[in-house]
Amino acid sequence: MKLRHFRSALAALGLLATQASAQEQPLSTKCESAPLMTAWTELGEKGKVAQFIEYAVAQKIEPYKAFDNVYYVGICWVSAWLLTSPQGHVLIDTLYEPFTEQLLANIRALGLDPKDIKLVVITHGHFDHAGGAARLKSVLGPGTRFAMSREGWREAAEEAALSAARTRPWTMIEPDIVLSDGQTVTGGEVAIEAFETPGHSMGTISFAFDARDGARTYRAFTVGGLGLNRIRGPDQVEAFIASVKRIRTLTQDGARPVELHLATHGFSTGLTEAKDLLKTRKPTDPHPLVNLQGFRKQLDDLQAGAEKRLVIERQRKAN
Ligand SMILES: [Zn+2]
Repeated sequence: MKLRHFRSALAALGLLATQASAQEQPLSTKCESAPLMTAWTELGEKGKVAQFIEYAVAQKIEPYKAFDNVYYVGICWVSAWLLTSPQGHVLIDTLYEPFTEQLLANIRALGLDPKDIKLVVITHGHFDHAGGAARLKSVLGPGTRFAMSREGWREAAEEAALSAARTRPWTMIEPDIVLSDGQTVTGGEVAIEAFETPGHSMGTISFAFDARDGARTYRAFTVGGLGLNRIRGPDQVEAFIASVKRIRTLTQDGARPVELHLATHGFSTGLTEAKDLLKTRKPTDPHPLVNLQGFRKQLDDLQAGAEKRLVIERQRKAN
């Protein structure tokens, strides 16, 4: 096995994280997007996992209201979005231990009750999105349903089983709701539409939902998986490219075009800097998180990066 392959295999197993974490200083405690994006790129290119994944102080950021019915309740490097209604809420992604406690604290800090979460939808089976499901299920009780794609449930169970021998062991709940492409599920009065978008992982699912801003209702979108950090061959990259192209067409949909991206990793869209503008926004100002051009540019960049990676993966397979 070549060194590069060995390192990426180690990274995939999460083994480099412990080696790096003991000595390195945290990147920042302010959650600026640029250094996190640099660290993320290093993870993808060199298998170098930055300490920000584990550093609790840097992860703690203020939760906030992003739209009238949408709240950010995640940590610095991984998002959790809460979509609210008077009859109950929907949560997108669970974070991971010990940060799921932070997620619950964030919801309470906003004056909301975690017990009002009727539905938890999970983008894919990696630890940072699904790792807190067991903790949430125990806190929220049997009335809360959990939803993933069929492959998402499978890959989450597999990832959790593999984690037993690693530094960050976690357990996964039994499959509950199985989402299929185009399906709309509801929690309270929140409706969320699922799109199977394989690529980042083969079980990755993305979501469209309404985000209200005064009299205006936007169609928001959460892309389920952004990175090419866990690629297992050219087929997966091809699937990623097809998914990105499909999401782009959703931004051009004649009936209900997707208008903004609420990302699973906020540094990928400059979320920290954009949300700061919410504080000084005047009534006539545009909503700072609505950036369709930026979303399309991000999709173009993801596609261009994946096309380069596809060449490499095809060569690897051929050798
Ligand atoms: Zn992932």
